[in-house]
Amino acid sequence: MATATVSTSNRIVPGGSFLIAAAESADCFFPEDFTEEHRQIARTASDFATNEVVPLSDRIEAKEFDVTRRLIRKASELGLTSVDIPEEYGGLEMDKMASAIIADNIAKQGSFSVAFSAHTGIGTLPIVWYGTEDQKKSYLPRLASGAWIAAYALSESTSGSDALSARTRAVLSDDGSSYILNGEKMWISNAGFADLFTIFARCRVPEGKDAGKERLTAFLVERGTPGFTIGKEEHKLGIRGSSTCPLIFADCRIPAQNLLGEVGKGHHIAFNILNVGRYKLGNAAVGAARTTIGHGIRYALERKAFGKSIADFGLIQEKLADCAVGVFVGEALSYRVVGMIDAALATVDRHDPAAIQKAIEDYAVECSIVKVWTSEMLDHVVDDVVQIYGGYGYVEEYPAERAYRDSRVNRIFEGTNEINRLIITGWLMKAALSGRLALMPAIKQLMDEVMEGPVPEEEQDGPLAAEFAILGKARKLTLFAAGVASQRYQQQLAEQQEIMGSIADMAIELFAMESAILRASKMSARTTAEIPIAMARLYTSAAMEKIELAGRRIVAAVAEGDMLRTHSAILRRLAKYELIDTIALRRTVARHLTAAGKYTL
Ligand SMILES: Cc1cc2nc3c(=O)[nH]c(=O)nc-3n(C[C@H](O)[C@H](O)[C@H](O)COP(=O)(O)OP(=O)(O)OC[C@H]3O[C@@H](n4cnc5c(N)ncnc54)[C@H](O)[C@@H]3O)c2cc1C
Repeated sequence: MATATVSTSNRIVPGGSFLIAAAESADCFFPEDFTEEHRQIARTASDFATNEVVPLSDRIEAKEFDVTRRLIRKASELGLTSVDIPEEYGGLEMDKMASAIIADNIAKQGSFSVAFSAHTGIGTLPIVWYGTEDQKKSYLPRLASGAWIAAYALSESTSGSDALSARTRAVLSDDGSSYILNGEKMWISNAGFADLFTIFARCRVPEGKDAGKERLTAFLVERGTPGFTIGKEEHKLGIRGSSTCPLIFADCRIPAQNLLGEVGKGHHIAFNILNVGRYKLGNAAVGAARTTIGHGIRYALERKAFGKSIADFGLIQEKLADCAVGVFVGEALSYRVVGMIDAALATVDRHDPAAIQKAIEDYAVECSIVKVWTSEMLDHVVDDVVQIYGGYGYVEEYPAERAYRDSRVNRIFEGTNEINRLIITGWLMKAALSGRLALMPAIKQLMDEVMEGPVPEEEQDGPLAAEFAILGKARKLTLFAAGVASQRYQQQLAEQQEIMGSIADMAIELFAMESAILRASKMSARTTAEIPIAMARLYTSAAMEKIELAGRRIVAAVAEGDMLRTHSAILRRLAKYELIDTIALRRTVARHLTAAGKYTL
């Protein structure tokens, strides 16, 4: 069964293009564009998490892994574990939107959400995309039904971010019948109870341009294979009910047919699967934020201080509004990216892993943006909700405490946020240099324009006219800052990490701002959208401040003297916009939330 994203143009929007050209809302997929089938999946996943998972939270947190296993099995009976698996191997084979919706709606219990995502995402997808016919036939039906649980093992104790320097080695036996694995892996989610592991190890490439060199290669290793042991559970800050263990390989012999993909091509598998992991982490982070703000709203309404409900205080309303804006924008940008990927995958032969890989890689920059933005948004939300709970936020009996602890890992795994920021700028610069993204012509055009004098205002109509104008300026500011930085450092830009990070911050905020404005504008074309419009206005104002600040940081670092003065004047001109009353807008949003008693638009 394949679902189609019907409410959008389905036009393929090239990765990274948001930086050089305004997107059309008709090309963007937002939650309002869900099909009836998508909505049904959302209800099924949400009801399952609320009625089956959350009530068992204490047992999950106590690391009763048989409970987690049983729940994954139950989820599979509802079809929730198999949406990414082809029908011929026991799956439902839906679009990526379906699995993103599941990741979002199941994220009501952090530990279970991580176990579920590790199984269905990074654990299962390597076989779906790179498995041989025999591997698919053998493993996918068991993974689809939840009878077997999957894990993905890339990190090692000495190489997490620097994954290519992994030390685990695989050597082909003399008779060519098996590979012998030696080494260790660290931090492997689901390791305590998984049955099947995708392992990445260095292996000598037999032929081709890398012949004789050792390159990362993927293998499938079953639990119980002699020479394969699983170390002790880590005791973690958060997601304590998820399993995280080291793996040890000591002369572990696996059949040669358990090679996954080609020798020496494991990095493609590893990194491409991580792109999916990143945007799905975004959906899960948004789901967790929605759940947490729900607790915050209910608590704020119940708690009395100074003779009133704390929800009546402006400083609490401000937090509630900011959390809700975070969820609104998070939904917008994460589903927009899934829509972009679905549109690209719709044109690709699903039996061709290289084509699938390329289609997803084209959106690597958007996947990293979603990962960084949503994980940082969730950290703000859980922090605000702990604050709303006051002292009760600091004790275990109340949900804010666990949400606060569970959130933190999202900035560490699936590539730390530092690594993802470097990926964002690095990817954009590479795409620009190769000509794949017309970034350099766009920068040149802007430079010519700003040198000629005042930049003409972009005229827009409608309730978000001012925000569209700010968006245009934000894009120019980002291009200007990227332009002066690349002019100054050229090929050495990668060595200036703080500048790379600031360019990434600008690109992230630009994409988030655009997603918020386009979502609200698309909603307002269909119905009255007072709250989405207020949220988009609030976010535009906050994002523009961040973009301007990052631009100033870059300019001050790359220029001095007269050049600095000229650049600063250009920055000021590009960052000129009318102030809006964010206090009144936040109050409007907060009153809407407290009247509803939950996050709603
Ligand atoms: C709960 C949990 C579950 C996990 N699950 C899995 C799993 O299922 N499978 C798996 O393979 N891995 C998993 N991981 C591992 C995770 O992906 C790594 O921890 C992560 O990639 C960071 O690697 P590291 O811990 O070695 O940190 P390091 O790479 O040592 O980084 C330490 C710090 O230095 C920074 N840093 C590193 N390199 C650079 C650089 N070039 N420039 C700037 N800053 C840099 C990092 O951003 C970080 O702040 C899990 C981790 C945790 C905590």
